Amino acid sequence: MSDRIIYLDHAATTPLDQRVLAAMLPYLSEQPGNPSSIHQLGRAALHALDDAREVVALVLGCTRKEIVFTGGGSESDNLAIKGVALAQRQRGKGSHIITSEVEHHAVLNAVAYLEQCGFTVTLLPVDRSGFVRPDDLRAAIRPDTALVSVMYANNEVGTVQPIAALGAICHEYGVPLHTDAVQAAGMLPLDVNALNVDLMTLTAHKFYGPKGVGLLYVRHGTPLLPQINGGGQERRRRAGTENVAGIVGLATALTLAEERRPTYVARLSDLRDRLIDGVLECVPQSWLNGDRELRLANNANLGFACAEGESVLLLLDQHGICASSGSACSSGSLEPSHVLTAMGLSVDNATCSVRFSLGQGSRAEDIDTVIAALPALIDRLREVAPCLPGSV
Ligand SMILES: *Cc1c(COP(=O)(O)O)cnc(C)c1O
Repeated sequence: MSDRIIYLDHAATTPLDQRVLAAMLPYLSEQPGNPSSIHQLGRAALHALDDAREVVALVLGCTRKEIVFTGGGSESDNLAIKGVALAQRQRGKGSHIITSEVEHHAVLNAVAYLEQCGFTVTLLPVDRSGFVRPDDLRAAIRPDTALVSVMYANNEVGTVQPIAALGAICHEYGVPLHTDAVQAAGMLPLDVNALNVDLMTLTAHKFYGPKGVGLLYVRHGTPLLPQINGGGQERRRRAGTENVAGIVGLATALTLAEERRPTYVARLSDLRDRLIDGVLECVPQSWLNGDRELRLANNANLGFACAEGESVLLLLDQHGICASSGSACSSGSLEPSHVLTAMGLSVDNATCSVRFSLGQGSRAEDIDTVIAALPALIDRLREVAPCLPGSV
């Protein structure tokens, strides 16, 4: 047991950066204004909101009017999917939605809800590495397609989708493209024009900002019905008094993430490769899930034949190592990951996979500690629950 906790679950959430906290604090106490109030405290809050919007627009390469602040990634995904689909149907633009099999549940379940409301849905398959093929998208688009939603980078296996290519196809047919870019922030370029996207979801707590605040980029002219009705905040696209401190935190965190991106990505991908190479070398019958190259700099999703993922996690936890199996949201359910099964893994191999996601605090020594701990730990599990050889 080491006393230092080795946190390798940054894809689930990241710790708040101290500089982000410092930027937020005034808006939690001394500056309590509601941005809708006309007195000076209200104006101060509105000013902070405007500044945050400006800063975010700069990173995304869009205008301030195209940013809608929300209560996080799930809300942004829901707003994008339900908001656009319902607006499109209302305008007679069709009721067919295309998404992929490997999306986050915030997307998949929003789409499933719309299916219950009479929409038709096409789920694009992925290849062994988790990539959506642009040709499959082209073949799936119909005259009544109202929206396409494909994530930028996968939260479980880190696979980075060819979003710009998918966007080009959507635009040929005049169909808006939403991308869940939650895992991409701080790792990949977020310029919405280079990416060819019309809607993009981000959430602050995945890039060292606070939990419970996110944004949806909505390209000018994209039809969108609000999903939270009430006051006229966020240009009538999302009612409710703005989370001023949270939004200031999001903007500060995004600026910091963008500033450090080149060095962060270089450092983390070295550590990631050290982990992948080390584990594949030291643990027999282990494998890497996802693409070796086109993956997030911080993601190593590894499989261990005959060692059930949740059990590996519990033993790692005893060593002070925090990792994840599947996505945090579906863990505890013991359902195999829908991402890994969509990639063609057997149910057995899908349940025998563990995600390590690195971040700012990760050091080479931590990686070496994991590599040193794993072989004995996996052996132990294989002894208790032996299984047939050759299942890899
Ligand atoms: C974490 C995550 C979300 C959900 O974001 P919340 O802010 O926790 O609601 C959505 N999509 C992806 C890809 C994620 O990793």
